This record gives sequence, structure tokens and C-alpha cells, in this order.
Amino acid sequence: MPQRMPFIAGNWKMYKTAAEAARTAQDLLARLGLGTISGVEVMIAPPYTALDAVGRVLAQSSVQLGAQNVFWADEGAYTGEVAPGMLADLGCRFVLIGHSERRQYFGETDESVGRRISAALRHGLAPVMCIGETEAQRDAGQTFSVLDKQITDGLRNQISDRLGTLVIAYEPVWAIGTGKTATADQAQEAHRFIRGKLAELLGDSFAAATRIVYGGSVKPGNIVELMAMPDIDGALVGGASLKAETFADIVRYRAQ
Ligand code: PEP
Repeated sequence: MPQRMPFIAGNWKMYKTAAEAARTAQDLLARLGLGTISGVEVMIAPPYTALDAVGRVLAQSSVQLGAQNVFWADEGAYTGEVAPGMLADLGCRFVLIGHSERRQYFGETDESVGRRISAALRHGLAPVMCIGETEAQRDAGQTFSVLDKQITDGLRNQISDRLGTLVIAYEPVWAIGTGKTATADQAQEAHRFIRGKLAELLGDSFAAATRIVYGGSVKPGNIVELMAMPDIDGALVGGASLKAETFADIVRYRAQ
């Protein structure tokens, strides 16, 4: 059974100017101890406008830089979009794809998620594919069928030999930014389902090696019980990642 390195990622959404983001990144490194974080992979996804500034701060550390979205074409007349090669050029190693806010407000679909994943892989960016059900879907007993469709359609026809870098973020929409966290048991149940689906689509060893992280109101107070679950390999943290102190406490969950 392969060891899966825990992955703790911060999504700074549409917060912070470049200078504010660089300061928060510096603060985070000071708290974590530059270059000495071990046993956990850490990633920060600031807004596009702060990628360069934050990338410069992180350059001498093991904290990875990520983007919050990517377009699928390599270049072209696509006003307002950002190409995968441009993100790689700024030092991004990861990219969030299909975040529920993108699906909800910007019309992203499982099909467009699939195209973005292919583009990211083509440029050596590790995709963090975000999936999750709404409250209405959970109440209607559709959680597993929604996850099934999101995974199947998002990963359809992905043939890259870099697919092993994929991270899946299970983020129940009703738990994002609401303060409502899935219980550790609810999250584990969904993660187990996702791993089973990956095994069906891509084989047992792929499923066993792939990191599946939980997102939805993760805080220092709930990270420990989430991380104790066998299929939870980390966290995607929104609100609680905006302050270096809180995010550092989440990253250092083992010290609690
Ligand atoms: C997110 O944005 O991916 C997220 C999980 O947000 P929050 O932690 O604020 O719920």
C-alpha cells in the first residue's frame, strides 16, 4: 500500500493584493520554519495577480505555489483567460480545477473541468480537481451519483502519463464558507466512495496512490479528527488559510 503524503492547501480566493499576499506568505514561512516542514506538502493558491509576488517569497521554501483556475488552450484570442504555460512559467506546480464557486458562478461543467485537467497535465501542473454535492443533492440522497458523474466526466479520456499527480478535493458545497463542516464520518464515507470510483476507472494501484483531500470550513479545531480518517489525505482550506497563524496551525495538525 503506497504512502500518501498529506497535502494541505490554502485557497486565497479573491482576497489580498500582491503586497498583502506576499506578506502573508512571509508570515506563514516564518511560522512554519523555512524549508523545515516535513511529512506534509503545503500549497498556497493566491489570486493570479499575486502569483509572481508570492512565488518569489516561496522560492526558497518547500511550500508550493498553485493557481485557482486555468484555461484549456495553450494560447490564443481568449481575452481575460490565463494559459497553463503562463502559470508554469510563474512557478506554479498545482492548479485548482472545478472549484464549486467556478461551477456555481462561472458556468463550469464537468466537460470544461476535463479540458482544463488535460491542459494542466500537458504543462506539468498537478490538477486539484474539486468535486462535491450541494445541500439539496445531499438531502435528495444523490451525493454518490453526483460524485460519480463529476469524477467520471472530469477524468474521461485523460491519457497523460502525468495523471498520477492528480489530487482530488472533496468539497461538499454546503460546507464551503458556511462554517458547517462535514463530520469526519461523512467525509470519510465520501472519500471511500471516491477512492472506489478511481479504482473502477483507473485501477487499484492508482486509487491507492491518489491523494483525496477534504475541503469545507476546515479549521485548527477540526483538522485532527479529519486527518485521522483512513481515506482523508489532507485539506483544501479557504477562509482559515487567509491568516498565516491559523493556516500554520492547520499545517502543523500533528502538533495538536
Ligand atoms: C474552499 O474555498 O475551497 C473552501 C473549502 O473554503 P472554506 O474553507 O472557507 O470553507
